[in-house]
Amino acid sequence: MLDGTGRPGFTGDVGIRNGRIVAVGRVAERAAWEVDASGLLVTPGWVDVHTHYDGQVTWDPQLTPSCWHGVTTVVMGNCGVGFAPAEAERHAWLISLMEGVEDIPGTALAEGIRWEWESFPEYLEAIERQPHALDVAAQVPHGALRAYVMGERGADHSEAPSAEEIAAMARLVREALEAGALGFTTSRTRNHRSRDGAPTPSLSAGPDELLGIARGLGEAGCGVMEIVSDFVDGAAEFALLRRMVEVSGRPMSISVAQHDLAPDAWRSLLGRIAAANEAGLPMRAQVPPRAIGLLLGLQATLNPFSGHPSFRALAELPLAEQVARLREPELRRRILAEEAPAGLAFLLARFERMFLLGDPPDYEPDAEQSVAAKAKRGGVPAAELAYELLLEDEGRTLLYLPFLNYTDFNLDVSREMLLDPNSVPGLGDAGAHCGMICDGSFPTFLLSHWGRDRKRGEGLPLEWLVKRQTADTAALVGLADRGTIAPGLRADLNLINWDTLALRPPEMVFDLPAGGKRLVQRVRGYRATLVAGEITFEDGEATGALPGRLVRGEQPAPAGTPDRSRS
Ligand SMILES: [Zn+2]
Repeated sequence: MLDGTGRPGFTGDVGIRNGRIVAVGRVAERAAWEVDASGLLVTPGWVDVHTHYDGQVTWDPQLTPSCWHGVTTVVMGNCGVGFAPAEAERHAWLISLMEGVEDIPGTALAEGIRWEWESFPEYLEAIERQPHALDVAAQVPHGALRAYVMGERGADHSEAPSAEEIAAMARLVREALEAGALGFTTSRTRNHRSRDGAPTPSLSAGPDELLGIARGLGEAGCGVMEIVSDFVDGAAEFALLRRMVEVSGRPMSISVAQHDLAPDAWRSLLGRIAAANEAGLPMRAQVPPRAIGLLLGLQATLNPFSGHPSFRALAELPLAEQVARLREPELRRRILAEEAPAGLAFLLARFERMFLLGDPPDYEPDAEQSVAAKAKRGGVPAAELAYELLLEDEGRTLLYLPFLNYTDFNLDVSREMLLDPNSVPGLGDAGAHCGMICDGSFPTFLLSHWGRDRKRGEGLPLEWLVKRQTADTAALVGLADRGTIAPGLRADLNLINWDTLALRPPEMVFDLPAGGKRLVQRVRGYRATLVAGEITFEDGEATGALPGRLVRGEQPAPAGTPDRSRS
């Protein structure tokens, strides 16, 4: 058993009553039902603080794929996007924002979401009416909040909110927190755009607005902040975020990853976060446990030829027909001779950074395995090899293009980020990026790659990895009632077959509302997952139990347990 505290593993029993752990160690008492976990790794359930299930939570009681990966609590509403508060006339716009920023099919959201709310507290009630396989916590997204208060002007970057509007945003955040929202989130990155290409509404929010909202959190006396930003002017931007923590007295987490164009910027950001902590300000970095990469393929949103006119003419064809057409020599010649528009070509023609993910998927390939390197060895142009690869497996092959945390063609940077004392693992974006990215499997990868499989450098101690995505992630968002195996805490547990724990390759499925597609990744080795003492998944299959509930706000540590909330 690895109990989430980071101490070395030990063998023992876990006694559970009424959804809580009542005893750990040697339990002599017989129970009404017992699970034999001998030979299995027993851990707390994973707490995933960075997901985008805001729409899916309303139609999917299981919350796949996180439930397959041992996650027992998800936090959603990240990156400033979500669906509450929302006036009826803003529904379509909020969907287009989510579709653009997080690549969730708009048709699926339009058909799936029932919109039984206007205010954020009503949204929480709607979630609460629907039991889930795991616990769900929600944050107030700045994009929706801004549109609710400012109407059309909320998405217009030449507009600024009035003092009254800022006060209204602060009041609504405070009301949401008092009703059980876990925090407030915003996006300040140019990479986040709505479906029609407009920058995300919160991009241009100025200091008055951000500090006004931060004061709202301060008045509520609870809640966390989550922020993603480009840090174009790193010092000024960080100073503003730091000021938000100062005026609110509330913790903040910031997305941190390595960009190829500024491969050392993350170090200065971590340095600033460290300095803030030394000054007593609770700021954390959310870091990915591996590279963040695009998955490219004929079924995916993008592939290396997406921008080529002759390919685009085929884009709507069913896969089998598309594959047949792409095999025609004349069409093949034409597509390969064409060029993509400049922006897309820059991203999608990076064959020296493109890899076959394989089975089992290899998330730390070396440069020699790239499409470009293989093509060179074979004496063919890289684009031609990529074209051939895309047609393999009846057109289902996915090529992996890591674009964050992979400048040096290895994961040493991820390791360094994970080891930073102010970081927590996150950024999996489960529930989002349906046609491009499939990182809801981060919790499994953190364990299997760093705790066991890594071949290209040092790994990390298993008991520490468990703590990182249980006690540490729970503490980040103020959930002191979960994350370790100790009497009084929630009985959220994983029983893992450590010898067989392994990710399957990502695959495209068409199971969203309206037949919408999404990438999912299955996994082997989770023998059982327990939520509040009930088995929700056994060997990857749902038992049908739905003990998961809405988590309303911060949760105190149960009486008598050591407080590790701000460790
Ligand atoms: Zn996100």
